[in-house]
Amino acid sequence: MKRILRVAVVAMCALTAAAPASAQLGKLGKALGKADDAAAKAQKLKAMYDSLVFTDAEEQQLGQQVSDKLRVRYGVVQDKAVHKYVTLVGTVLAQASSRPNLPWKFIVLDTDGVNAYAAPGGFIHITRGALSLLQSESELADVLGHEIAHVTEKHTIKAIQQGKLVALTAEMTRNQIMSAVADKSYEILFEGAYDRGQELDADEKGVALANKAGYAPGGLGAFLARLDERNKNNPDRNGLFASHPATKERIEKLANEIRTQKLSSTAIVAGRYKASITYKPVPVTEISQITAGASGLAGSSSSTKAGGTKSSGSKLGLGKLSALGGEKKSTATIASAGARGGVPDRDAKGGSNPAIVGVTVTAAEIAEFKKGIVG
Ligand SMILES: [Zn+2]
Repeated sequence: MKRILRVAVVAMCALTAAAPASAQLGKLGKALGKADDAAAKAQKLKAMYDSLVFTDAEEQQLGQQVSDKLRVRYGVVQDKAVHKYVTLVGTVLAQASSRPNLPWKFIVLDTDGVNAYAAPGGFIHITRGALSLLQSESELADVLGHEIAHVTEKHTIKAIQQGKLVALTAEMTRNQIMSAVADKSYEILFEGAYDRGQELDADEKGVALANKAGYAPGGLGAFLARLDERNKNNPDRNGLFASHPATKERIEKLANEIRTQKLSSTAIVAGRYKASITYKPVPVTEISQITAGASGLAGSSSSTKAGGTKSSGSKLGLGKLSALGGEKKSTATIASAGARGGVPDRDAKGGSNPAIVGVTVTAAEIAEFKKGIVG
């Protein structure tokens, strides 16, 4: 403040003293010019952050890049029947969503870790481990509904834009910006770093969407409770989360939402789920982990046990170590924490084949499938 005043005084002297002060005036002009440059740069940067709004095509390009990383990290279950089933459930929901025309893709990742990841543009990923823990089609629909809501509400992109989470410079090209946003999007998904408000929003909109499609909306709460139970014997988790209300709060809010919105669909469809998905859950302490020193991004082929490690960092928002526990780490640290200090679901070993399993569903197949959504 003092300094600004002094500059103002100097400026006044300069302006009133005319010729003898010309040298000073030159200096002042330079300083003012620099200030203008800085202001212009700041203005341009602000405009760049404001322009982190993407067309649908760009959003899909981002999602594709994020999906590539997830598929390289965890591999894809090379099973057409499983993909077809998950795609049918997902497509029924996506068509009832606020963005039915995105080219939605449903991808089953090849890992025992329990997780689901929504990449921008309609790339929904769910792990084999998550499918093994779900017990009915309505639970799957509720979980996919939650992930679909992250996409329809553009949560990842909004988080990046509002939090200015990527470092932009005035010199960056659009492609460079897209790359930076894709990297940050992946990090947000990988670390489960959606904020509480976005998780609650996705919960609310997700179960409303599943309900709209005919599915009982209580499946997400049931699944969260089961996941919480699964993780309860985790010593670190007990330390860190014993009194944390996150999951409890979500379950209560879900129940409240179902009550106040009078969400009353009743289809559970357990039979078709069990006929389609036969994976057996792996206890959290027995999930093979990537090894110390391996890149958290690239995965690893060797394995260790996860005994006595921290709780799930579920992208369903359950663990959220980074967001809730203040334990946000670089992937290198996470990887070297590996078997002892890591997050078993996130740090789980993955499969080696990242190829998308292409399935198509016809309008007739969807119509036929919908007939099975009865309760
Ligand atoms: Zn979520």
